[in-house]
Amino acid sequence: MTDFADKVALVTGAGSGIGAACAELLAGRGARVLVADVDLHAATRVAEAIGKPAQPHHADVTDPHACEAMVATAVETFGRLDVAVNNAGIGGPRALTGEYPLDGWAAVIAVNLSGVFYSLRAEIPAMLANGGGSIVNMASVMGSVGFPRQVAYVSAKHGVVGMTKTAALEYAKHGIRINSVGPGFVQSPMLSPAGAAGAAFLHPTCRLGRPEEVAELVAFLASDRASNTTGSYFATDGGYTAQ
Ligand code: NAD
Repeated sequence: MTDFADKVALVTGAGSGIGAACAELLAGRGARVLVADVDLHAATRVAEAIGKPAQPHHADVTDPHACEAMVATAVETFGRLDVAVNNAGIGGPRALTGEYPLDGWAAVIAVNLSGVFYSLRAEIPAMLANGGGSIVNMASVMGSVGFPRQVAYVSAKHGVVGMTKTAALEYAKHGIRINSVGPGFVQSPMLSPAGAAGAAFLHPTCRLGRPEEVAELVAFLASDRASNTTGSYFATDGGYTAQ
């Protein structure tokens, strides 16, 4: 499959887990990929494993200037920007809302909500200059339902779903499609081994998702195969939100 032949993609948080799987799949289907992460060593490992069509890049998505530099690097290196996967995220502390630590709230909102906004704000002008593009924002099942002791993460992910809809409405006429994806719990370094064991049985499938399974949905939405799809949220959650 060569859905992304001649296309340029960037993936944030691409040094690990779901982001790494997205970068690998897009590159495997023909894209040249900027592998962006706040952890440059991790991004470099992923880019080296992919090979020539990938370049690692250091970017902290909590910094709007870093997001602008990330997009500029993709355009300077590869000539254009067609696809962006705004995936960087952190889990944050677990506590009841009435006791939630303020620094934990600020950190989660900075990465999981503001980071997606700063990324979109930088990517959209580059795509407009290019006649269009496709953006996939990484939400979560927690972008559609609540989860006790996770007020910051749930708030940020619901915000990503709303941000996706709003930006999609604004740019639909300009050829930019913007969608969000909501994985259930996925086997990645974000989950502790203890958390992973408990989380599997929250799903009707009785297992965790795999990063590659999320990447398949992301790649479909990012591709021209989804040419009439914008402003929507798609779960890939082993039935979690059907319950
Ligand atoms: P992960 O911890 O394996 O990877 C996250 C990556 O993001 C890391 O490489 C990390 O260095 C990077 N990152 C963190 N802060 C950053 C910043 N400020 N700027 C740039 N990069 C930064 O986690 P994952 O499970 O692959 O999660 C990826 C995305 O998927 C996140 O948005 C997460 O909320 C979402 N998600 C994960 C799960 C899950 O169960 N693992 C479920 C639903 C949604």
